[in-house]
Amino acid sequence: MSNHIIVAIDGYSSCGKSTLAKALAKELNFIYVDSGAMYRAVALYFLRNHTDLNNHEDVVDALQNIHLNFHSRDYQTHIILNDEEVSYEIRQMPVSENVSSVSAIHEVRREMVRQQQRMGRSKNIVMDGRDIGTAVFPDAPVKFFMTADPIVRAERRYKELLPQNPEITLEEVFENLAHRDYQDTTRAESPLVRAEDAIILDNTDLTPDEQLMFALSKVEPLLNTI
Ligand code: C5P
Repeated sequence: MSNHIIVAIDGYSSCGKSTLAKALAKELNFIYVDSGAMYRAVALYFLRNHTDLNNHEDVVDALQNIHLNFHSRDYQTHIILNDEEVSYEIRQMPVSENVSSVSAIHEVRREMVRQQQRMGRSKNIVMDGRDIGTAVFPDAPVKFFMTADPIVRAERRYKELLPQNPEITLEEVFENLAHRDYQDTTRAESPLVRAEDAIILDNTDLTPDEQLMFALSKVEPLLNTI
């Protein structure tokens, strides 16, 4: 019997995991952790420092120089990489194009998983990512596996990126999502896969409110077990 609850949310790129995770955390007064932001911040550091992804020593040295912190304001993730807020930069295309190669590296995953498990040791949290229900918290009492039509996902992400990046095209966004999904599902270590006990949530035709209601109906019965 545990005295805290972990809600694990996994799924494909841009299918609304963070929208659901934030809304759930807010509703339940849990802490929200965006694990993808951690891999993105590592990818940003590697890009800036020209870390050679194929060089074990280079990767290990770089990881030792990376200190990540989260600040949560209004359930928005503010991620701090070595004292610099990088929340905006980690969402831009150069990072999106490189993050899946970075997240496939064993040493990177080992360090991120260690930090994520520490965050979940004693607090109620909602964490979203690709391996939360399978590798980070395989014993989480409630797990969701999210999916949505790839075109709908690309359109949603395109609309998000367009205001800051008027040059971007829908095709580019679609290709990036397809490429990341491919890399994330086929990598050797902790590939994106549905945990056997995860509840499938396809939100192609759901509004954010509808998916929140569905998820709450699965989590709320657990609240009186802690
Ligand atoms: O969730 P988001 O799209 O921001 O994640 C960016 C990338 O980080 C994913 O495409 C994936 O390669 C990696 N990731 C991961 N494991 C997680 C979260 C994210 O490998 N738990």
